[in-house]
Amino acid sequence: MMQKNQSSFTISELISHATTMQKSAIATYSNFKVGAALRSIDGTIIGGFNIESVSYGLTMCAERVAIFSALTAGHKQFTHLALVTDIGVFPCGACRQMIYEFCSDASIIIATPQAIIATTSIKELMPHAFCDNDLEQSKKRLIS
Ligand SMILES: [Zn+2]
Repeated sequence: MMQKNQSSFTISELISHATTMQKSAIATYSNFKVGAALRSIDGTIIGGFNIESVSYGLTMCAERVAIFSALTAGHKQFTHLALVTDIGVFPCGACRQMIYEFCSDASIIIATPQAIIATTSIKELMPHAFCDNDLEQSKKRLIS
């Protein structure tokens, strides 16, 4: 985790942090290394990388590792999420759900270590997400 002065923040710095994370990824079985860097509203950058298990289903994506680490450290609002892979891929469906719930205001930067592939938002990536409002509406229906 890196505490950062707000004014010195740059997207390339965030990508650089995600690239450092990518190098440490534990991608024992796929060798598909992913690095993530999440920037909290206070300027803190929280990293994550994918962690694979011999029991494949237990594998965890870089984005969710970063989100869980950030939430565990007490961060609740985020401005940016950078995702770095060798080919510039977008988050998987499970991560999109978690990003929607916990980082809905963050700009999402899809990158390789060399270049930005896309800048997007979770609302663009997942326009009809299941959310807490859906549960509330369902509860109201049961009551009435
Ligand atoms: Zn994922």
